[in-house]
Amino acid sequence: MSTLRSSLEELRAEDLRFAGDDALVGDLAELERASGSLEVERGRRIAEIERRQVHRLDGHLSVASWLTARFRLAWSTAVRQVRQARALEAMPLAREALAEGDLSRSAVDVLVAARESNVEAFGRDEGSLVEAARTMPYAELRRVAAYWREAVEPARFEREHEHRNAMRRLYVSPMLDGMVRVDGDLDPETGQTLITALRSVQDAETRRGPDVRSAAQRRADALGEICRRWLDGSNRPVVAGERPHVTVTVDLESLERRAGRRCELEDAGPIPAEAARRLACDASVARVITSGRSEPLDVGRRTPVVPSALRRAVVVRDGRCRFPSCDRPQAWCDAHHVVHWADGGPTSLDNLVLLCRPHHRAVHSGFRIEMVDGRPVFRRPDGSPLEDRAPPHVLR
Ligand SMILES: [Zn+2]
Ligand SMILES: [Zn+2]
Repeated sequence: MSTLRSSLEELRAEDLRFAGDDALVGDLAELERASGSLEVERGRRIAEIERRQVHRLDGHLSVASWLTARFRLAWSTAVRQVRQARALEAMPLAREALAEGDLSRSAVDVLVAARESNVEAFGRDEGSLVEAARTMPYAELRRVAAYWREAVEPARFEREHEHRNAMRRLYVSPMLDGMVRVDGDLDPETGQTLITALRSVQDAETRRGPDVRSAAQRRADALGEICRRWLDGSNRPVVAGERPHVTVTVDLESLERRAGRRCELEDAGPIPAEAARRLACDASVARVITSGRSEPLDVGRRTPVVPSALRRAVVVRDGRCRFPSCDRPQAWCDAHHVVHWADGGPTSLDNLVLLCRPHHRAVHSGFRIEMVDGRPVFRRPDGSPLEDRAPPHVLR
C-alpha cells in the first residue's frame, strides 16, 4: 500500500504542461489499466468484509449501509460496489480481464447484469461474453448481452418485455413557475419512435450551421416542432367539431400594449404580454380575445390570422426565413405581421414576412423590422441595421 501511495505522489508532482501528447495518452491508458486493478482489489476486500461480517461490528445490517456511513458514499454507489464485488467473486475471467485493464467499468456493469439474469448460463458462457466485452464498443456489447439473454431464456425475455410495456407512463404537468414538466418511461417501441423523430428534427437543424443551444434545449425545441407540425397537419382528427389548436387567451389591452391583465395559455398558464403578441401574430395559433372585464370578444375564433392562401403567397415570395443570413425553410417559419394586426397592421402580403421560430422570437424581443420599398429591413436592439440580403427568388 505504501508503494502505491508513493507512486501516486510521484504522479501528482508531475507538471503536465511539459508532457508530450504521446506521453499524456500513454499515461492515461496506464491509469485506466491501474484503476481496473484497483476496482478488482476494492471488490475483493468488500467481499471479504461481507464474508467476515465486519460491518456488524459497527452495528450495520448490510455492507452497503456500512459503506455509505464509513466512506460517505451515495446509497446507489454503495449498492453498485457491493453488487459488483459479489458478482466478480464468481466471475474469474471477467475479474482477470478487469485487473489486466482489458475491460471498461461500463462493460463490467453489462456483464454483472447479464450474470444476475441467469447465473448458470453465465457460468457456461463467461468466456465468450468477456471476449465480447474486451473487444466491442459499449453499445455493441449491450446489444450482444441482450441477445444472449434472449437466447438463454426466451420466455423470461418475453415476460420482461411485456413487463416493460406495462410500465410505460408519461406525465405532462404544468408547474407553478410556468414551465411544463415532462417525465416518464416509454416502452421500447414508443421510445425508439420518439428518439428517431427527435433525431430527424435535430439532424435537419444541425445542417443549418452552428447552434448555441445545449443538446437538452435542442431536444426540447425538437419536441415542440414535432407537436406543432402535428397540430398544423390537415389530416388530424377532429374533436368536438373542430381541430384542437394551441389557444392563447389575451385581453385587447395587452395586445395593444396598453396595461393589460390577461395573457395565458390554456393549460400552461400566464405568459408575458409580448409572448402573447408573438403567438397571436402567428397564423396557426387560435386566440380568444377578451375586453376589460374578461368578456370574450372573439370567442373560440379558430380561423387563422393569416388565411392559408395568403400564407402560401408569403411562402412563394420569401421561400425561407427572411432574417439576414438565416436559411431555415418555410416549414420552420411563422408569417410575422411587421405592424401587428392589434396595432392596426393589415393582414396583407406587404405587411407579412416569413420568419423562423427563433427569429420570430427575436423580432418580438428587441430586434426590429420595417418594410422599406417592399423589402424587410432588420435592426439590432441598439437601432443599427443588419445587413440585408436580396429576397431568395432574386438569387435563384
Ligand atoms: Zn410576429
Ligand atoms: Zn431565421
